[in-house]
Amino acid sequence: MAQPRVVTIHYTLTNDQGEELDSSRVEGREPLSYLEGAQNIINGLESALNEKAAGDQLKVSVAPADGYGEVNEELIQPVPRNAFEGVDTIEPGMQFQAQTPGGPQIVRVVEVSEETVTIDANHPLAGQTLHFDVEVVEVREASEEEQEHGHVH
Ligand code: ZN
Repeated sequence: MAQPRVVTIHYTLTNDQGEELDSSRVEGREPLSYLEGAQNIINGLESALNEKAAGDQLKVSVAPADGYGEVNEELIQPVPRNAFEGVDTIEPGMQFQAQTPGGPQIVRVVEVSEETVTIDANHPLAGQTLHFDVEVVEVREASEEEQEHGHVH
C-alpha cells in the first residue's frame, strides 16, 4: 500500500434537492483534514480523492452504501414519553443522547404523541445520496505517529 497521506479539503455538501447540508467554506470554519485509510471520512468521498493533488477540484456523488448507509427501519421506534424524565418540551427535530448496548448514541425525535415519542437512531444522512463539491487544498505525507493514532495531528 502507498504511503498514507493527510489530505486537506474544502467541501460543500448538498442533497438531491440541492439544499446545502454542510460546508467548510463558511466563515469560522477550517478546511477538513483527514488521514487516508483510517476511515476518517466516508468511503465514497475518500475513494474519489485517491491520487488527487493540491489544487484539484471535483464533484462527487456518493450513494448511501458508500456514505452513511441505508435507513434501518428498526432504528426508528416509539419509546414511552416518561423515558424523557425532566425534559419539559419534546419536539420533532430535537436530539438526545441515549444509552444503548453499543454505547452512547445520538437519537432524533421524529414524532411526539401524548403517550409516546418516536425516535430515530439512524445517522441523519442515512439513505441520502450526497453531493460533494470539493477542492483539494493541501496534500502531505502522514507522519508515523499519525498513522499509529489513525487521525491527523
Ligand atoms: Zn493522535
